[in-house]
Amino acid sequence: MKKLRVAHLYPKLLNIYGDNGNIITLKRRCEWRGLSICVEDIDLGDAIGEYDVYFMGGGQDLQQIEVSKELQKHKDFLISERDRGAVFLGICGGYQLFGHYYQPHQGEKLLGISLLDAYTVAGDKRFIGNVTVETDYVEPNTLVGFENHSGLTYLRGDTKPIGTVKVGNGNNGTDKTEGARYKNVFGTYMHGSFLPKNPHFADYMIELALGEKLEPLDNDIEFITHNSLIGKKY
Ligand code: GLN
Repeated sequence: MKKLRVAHLYPKLLNIYGDNGNIITLKRRCEWRGLSICVEDIDLGDAIGEYDVYFMGGGQDLQQIEVSKELQKHKDFLISERDRGAVFLGICGGYQLFGHYYQPHQGEKLLGISLLDAYTVAGDKRFIGNVTVETDYVEPNTLVGFENHSGLTYLRGDTKPIGTVKVGNGNNGTDKTEGARYKNVFGTYMHGSFLPKNPHFADYMIELALGEKLEPLDNDIEFITHNSLIGKKY
């Protein structure tokens, strides 16, 4: 069984609301199955090699400015990684920079790397609170998390939502969509952190990255948390 190679993009800048928990979850769910996994932090100025999974957390507009500039150097390579089938997960601010751009309230438009056919503009109010989403990608068909963003994201073309918002605002508070997917690139506004509360989605990502079915794990404890958040506003 091959080793899962994970790149954690810019953890010193984009890492809020426990986003690091997504990395810990990928690690544990591999280790509990005896799968080997290595995680490398990518910081400003670092070269980016080939990985099976690329993860980028969220952050404030200020941190996104630096990351947006840095990502432009790696845009073509990361697009070729997407087209090779690598798995990407971007949370909130990271998700926004996987699209074409994020226009914050103040200042210049922050360029993204167009892994997703999506764009984001800052709205008048912040969307803060719990989120429940219905999805077709995993069983059980619910995803839960926490959102805190001013950005309103709109999807185009073959980039489709991860699911439909049942509680919360999701992408833009109007079209009831949450997150985005194109090929194996996923973006979501769900912090909290996302994967510990949605172990079935973590396994789905690992399976996509390894190209193999995983043996099931006992998820009772994780689903006590997951189920307690379904439909819960605050
Ligand atoms: N700064 C972005 C926004 O406000 C992303 C916030 C975040 O990552 N939580 O929309």
